[in-house]
Amino acid sequence: MKAGVYKITHKESSRCYIGSALDVHHRLKTHKWLLRNKRHANVLLQNSYNKHGEDSFSFSILLFCSKNDRLFYEQKCLDGYQTYVKEFGYNIRRVAESNSGVPMHPNTKESIRKMWLDPDFRKRRNVPEAGERHGRLVLIELREKTAGSYTWLCKCDCGKEYLKKVACLRKGMTTSCGCYNSEMSSKRRKEKTGVITTFVELFGERIGIREAEKRLGIGKNVIARKARVKKITLQEATEYFINFKRKKSL
Ligand SMILES: [Zn+2]
Repeated sequence: MKAGVYKITHKESSRCYIGSALDVHHRLKTHKWLLRNKRHANVLLQNSYNKHGEDSFSFSILLFCSKNDRLFYEQKCLDGYQTYVKEFGYNIRRVAESNSGVPMHPNTKESIRKMWLDPDFRKRRNVPEAGERHGRLVLIELREKTAGSYTWLCKCDCGKEYLKKVACLRKGMTTSCGCYNSEMSSKRRKEKTGVITTFVELFGERIGIREAEKRLGIGKNVIARKARVKKITLQEATEYFINFKRKKSL
């Protein structure tokens, strides 16, 4: 991670955008991603990118410096290239400022909130709508998580309520509250061990295998291995260990 100042240049016109970051390499990647996905906050740069395409831009690092000096050098570069003058550049602010650690202005917060509540905006950004089903999740309510970041409150088929990022839902990464994965892994475990159930009848009650593990003082993997080797159920394997213990204590 290297702090420094970078420049994004439209090769033909030499108009450029200057910025600084604590991690310049990462920031340049972020800029590329934002531009490609039409989400760059700088409208001038985004419009120009849309018009000319990525190949007509160059992304370069002007200098590396200590993180405390980056705003000083950014200001020098802004003034040198005059990028805040429209014909020379895309920068909107004249003064190099850092956004890190600055709390969001209430008005900004309010306008972001309005934006998210606007159905047109949500449609443009491909944000899922209330009532939509994503695998096992049904979307209930859009909630503000932190300033400017929105999440969906979802209800899973298993009954749990679950907060999920809009981006994850959009990509189809999430299909349940986590119950799907745990079901699948227990299914895989069953296939692997031949164990029919993860519950056993013990001392007259139905308890989980983890609880049985605790009460017997024997690892559940040991119980499962026994079941696999002997081709018996988990129940029978557990009983085997109970009898084993009883015999030992006699
Ligand atoms: Zn669930």
